[in-house]
This record gives sequence, C-alpha cells and structure tokens, in this order.
Amino acid sequence: MALAPPPEEGTVAVMVRVRPPGPCEQEQAMHRILRVVNQHILVFDPEEHSGPPSSMLPTHRPKQQGKDLKFVFDRVFGEGATQEEVFQHTTCDMLDSVLNGYNCSVFAYGATGAGKTYTMLGLEKSPGIMYLTMVELYRRIEAREEKSYEVLVSYQEVYNEQIHDLLEPKGPLAIWEDPEKGVVVQGLSFHRPTSAEQLLEMLANGNKNRTQHPTDANATSSRSHAVFQIYLKQQDHIGGLTRDLQVAKMSLIDLAGSERASVTKTKGERLREGANINRSLLALINVMNTLADAKSKKTHIPYRDSKLTRLLKDSIGGNCRTVMIAAVSPSVLAYEDTYNTLKYASRAKEI
Ligand code: ADP
Ligand code: MG
Repeated sequence: MALAPPPEEGTVAVMVRVRPPGPCEQEQAMHRILRVVNQHILVFDPEEHSGPPSSMLPTHRPKQQGKDLKFVFDRVFGEGATQEEVFQHTTCDMLDSVLNGYNCSVFAYGATGAGKTYTMLGLEKSPGIMYLTMVELYRRIEAREEKSYEVLVSYQEVYNEQIHDLLEPKGPLAIWEDPEKGVVVQGLSFHRPTSAEQLLEMLANGNKNRTQHPTDANATSSRSHAVFQIYLKQQDHIGGLTRDLQVAKMSLIDLAGSERASVTKTKGERLREGANINRSLLALINVMNTLADAKSKKTHIPYRDSKLTRLLKDSIGGNCRTVMIAAVSPSVLAYEDTYNTLKYASRAKEI
C-alpha cells in the first residue's frame, strides 16, 4: 500500500503504539492478541499466533477462533519501537507547523497500563515525547538567526472537571476565552526552562503532583488528564525594528485511562470522579467525531462540554494539526481494552 502522506494543517493522524508485555504478562499470558504486519497495518486477535502451543494458553480463555481484524493506521509502532522513533514520526514533523505559527496537539489515548505516560513523559533513562520535543525545538530555534524566539511551558491537569497547575500547585483555576488572547487559564504559571535537565526535573516534579489514586482495578490508575503546553513566541528584526509575529502553541496530552468506569468498583466520591473523567474524555471523543463528520460541512463542534475540550479549543480542529497516539497492550489480559482502543482509534482516523 502507498505510504500515508505527512499530515497537513487541520488533519488528525492516528498512530498506534504496542507496548512490550510486562513481567507478569510474560509468564501468565504469552498469547499475543496483536500482530504488527508493517508500519501501517495491525491485526487484532489473529487466527494464527506465533505464541506457545495452544495447550499452554491460559485456561481462563477458551480456545476459539480469533476475530482476525485488520486495522490500518497512519503509523503502527511495534513493541520494539524506541522513544526516539515514536518522536520522529509524531511531534518532530509537527515542529515545522509550530514554527510557522500553527497550534498543534498530540494525545496519548488508551487504557490504564497501556503505555500513555511512558510515551509522553517516559522514564529517566528513556525520556518521552515531551522532553524530546523540547530538545528538538531548542535545536531548531538556535539554528534560525533571523528571528528571535521566546519559549514558555506550562503543565496542568484536568481532574474531576477542575484545572490544576502541576508546576505551582494551588487551588483549582478558572478558564475563559479572551477575544484577543484566546483560551486563558487564570493564574496558570509559565516557565522558561534553561536547560534540558531542568525541563526533565520540572516534568518529573509536575508528574508527582498529579492526582493518582489506587483503585481496585489498577494500583496506579490515573484519572487525570495531564496537559503539557509549549508556547512559542516569535519576533523578527528588520531594519532595526522588532516586530511581534505570532504565538503558536503545542499541546502534549497524557489522557486519563479510557477503560470503562464500570470496571473499577467505585462508590461515592470515586463514582462522581469516574463520571467526570468520562465527561472530559467523552467530550474529547465527541469533538473528534464531530470534526470527522464535519469534514466537508460546517457543523457546531461541542468544545464547551468539558474542561478538557474548552482548554484545547484552539488546538484541535480548525487549522491545527493533531496526532492521536493510541497505546495498547499485546497481552490477552487486556483483550477488551485493546479492542476498544483500536475501534476508537480507527474511528478517529476518519477525520
Ligand atoms: P499508562 O500511562 O497508559 O497507564 P504506563 O505508561 O504507565 O501506562 O505504562 C505501564 C507500564 O509499562 C510502565 O511500567 C511502563 O514503564 C511500561 N511501558 C509502557 N510502554 C512501554 C514501552 N514502550 N517500553 C517499555 N516499557 C513500557
Ligand atoms: Mg499513566
């Protein structure tokens, strides 16, 4: 098949990243439910699998014909893909758009444990997209001498339909739309990291401030959406005059787990929380779906339905480039989650 064209302004590219099986999955569930065919094609629940003989398959899953569903995406990253490779095919290309003044956004979507945070934030020894993007942005800015640039970052979370500053934690922050400045989060702190190391430290500290609650389904389940934003302000200098050009913004979002709230035994506070998580995530899905339907005609896009979509109103749709990275687990233990994520991601691909 032909290579997918590079995404243009106003498009959504949908990519899938398959994480390697974790230590306990390797023992209990060698049975793989995903087969990466090539850089664009992935088969869910393949008929034949290269795993162990069927007699060794976990007994809780009756032997049955696989669904053998083929999915096509803008890019499929297999278990062996490095952070650098994922970065090269997602935000690296987008930096040109940001330098040209367009807002862009990258989402990591998927169930808890599927690899969203690993992809966006990463580990100390293998930093993710947020870090690699900043390093590349600084590199490009230094190479361009005709203009001057100012780079600021913010890191916030949407939790329980409230916005919190992750870099300078305080009470929930109000959001509104300013006719001139666009989306404004009141009191949000902006930072100017002076080195890559400082940025890493900032991100790690910010992440420690994320609201995480152990639940029955997963000890480190994350119900918050983490939004890292990079603001790029450009000025040019012609004949001794300094002229403000534009401000462009890149938003890198580690979404809350997409697994259904019913999986977790939730009561009281948790239940409300669960409902609210769904609100922002569902609103985002609705916005994406409406954009897909509205491709040719002008339709109302329901940005106002949640805090997350209000926050990102100027960064999805319009002439913004968007990349959706759907994170999935190859383990049979995550069968339903992986299936649901792929179904959702292939719907988003229609935008
Ligand atoms: P999520 O944020 O979607 O809940 P995580 O990113 O925390 O999931 O990933 C779950 C676990 O799997 C973590 O221990 C993480 O380090 C590991 N992991 C995820 N993706 C990869 C990968 N591509 N390579 C190696 N380890 C990974
Ligand atoms: Mg996470």
